[in-house]
Amino acid sequence: MAEKADVRITCYSDLRRFSMWSQQARMKPNSRSAYRTRGIKRIDLAYVELASSESARDINRDVVLELVRSKQPVARADIARASGLQPSTVSAIVEQLIKEKWVKEGAIARRPRGRRPTLLSLNDELVILTVDVRPKQAIVALLDLNMRFLAREVVPLVSDPASAVGKIVLCMEAMRANHPNRSFEGIGMSMPGRIDPESQRLVLAPNLKWGSYDIKSTVQKRMGLQVELTNAANACLLAELWSGRLDGIRNAVLITVSEGVGAAILANGHIVTSRSGLAGEFGHSPIDPAGPLCGCGQRGCWEVFASSNAALRYYAEMRPEDAPLNIHELLHMAEEEDSVAIAAVSRQATCLGRGLRLVTAALSPEVILFVGDITTSWARYGPVIQAELEATMLAGHAPRLEITNDGELARLRGAAAVVLQRHSGYQRSALEAAQARN
Ligand SMILES: [Zn+2]
Repeated sequence: MAEKADVRITCYSDLRRFSMWSQQARMKPNSRSAYRTRGIKRIDLAYVELASSESARDINRDVVLELVRSKQPVARADIARASGLQPSTVSAIVEQLIKEKWVKEGAIARRPRGRRPTLLSLNDELVILTVDVRPKQAIVALLDLNMRFLAREVVPLVSDPASAVGKIVLCMEAMRANHPNRSFEGIGMSMPGRIDPESQRLVLAPNLKWGSYDIKSTVQKRMGLQVELTNAANACLLAELWSGRLDGIRNAVLITVSEGVGAAILANGHIVTSRSGLAGEFGHSPIDPAGPLCGCGQRGCWEVFASSNAALRYYAEMRPEDAPLNIHELLHMAEEEDSVAIAAVSRQATCLGRGLRLVTAALSPEVILFVGDITTSWARYGPVIQAELEATMLAGHAPRLEITNDGELARLRGAAAVVLQRHSGYQRSALEAAQARN
């Protein structure tokens, strides 16, 4: 039984994956499947879903939607060619996607001879409201299906959850009023904590302290739109998957460095959230039992040594009389060659690198992605983290370290992608990216 309880991978469409594998093998033999050996695989019947004609249709729909997204504006015939699907199948799926408003018809293509096809693109009239909730502020933004930002606003927050959520809702209402010609699909909220996939409540958010306040129902009731909550690190990882920057990578870990240290896991092409959505809490692994008290109630967690707040504390310990107000100020002072500021951030970077041993030992990723404050000075601190990582490897080469280009926008794009995935049924993972490319 332990096998079932511990190894289960929950992703946004865990059940459909079973049919996805068989589909991949059947559709187009690639180099990997060509070497697949025959054998028997034990299947856990509690979670299996048979490959019905419905699941095959869903996969084809995902492939068509992905091809529209990546090749737009694109003709139906080109989608048929790129996917290997029958033109009649492509046409039927496209009609459905147009009816559901995910895709729209646009210009007529100019071709030297023959029929001139109508080109398809994502329907950017459809928009998604997103929120990046942080302990002290929220960023509310409006994105279209192409992940373009149409509006963005910062909302200062108060500690009382009801008042804070009330302020976020007011901002979203104003944004909706300013875009009367758009069709609003839903709301995606990136949270600095873990969300139970079943109850959709925050189960762990040591830096936010909103308790069990029901954010989802409150916002849904006020806005009349469906709300999807997601963990900030998972949102960033999903944004990376959607951008295509992780195409071809099946094992990665993304680390967010801000008030705390969060992590998201891509294992064998799936985002892993696991029981109660709690997977990836490396930030609360104890490094030193005698260390400072952490927001989670324990002492000496990785995040109390490696977060942006840790860097501020290191500075205050060395020069308490003029401690910077926030991490941006501290990073700026370091850029200005303030030796105490450099020492404080370097110590944070060293601790970040050392803690990565937890990550590599547990998951052995190909890539470790960093998002957050310290990445703005990566040329200086990236090598510090890299050196620590290499010094702590158990075996083999260290994973590649990268930073995301999106910065804070990644959380917003990821929150929008969650809405898209859950509402359209459209899944984009490393696996599909590979499929779309083949
Ligand atoms: Zn902790």
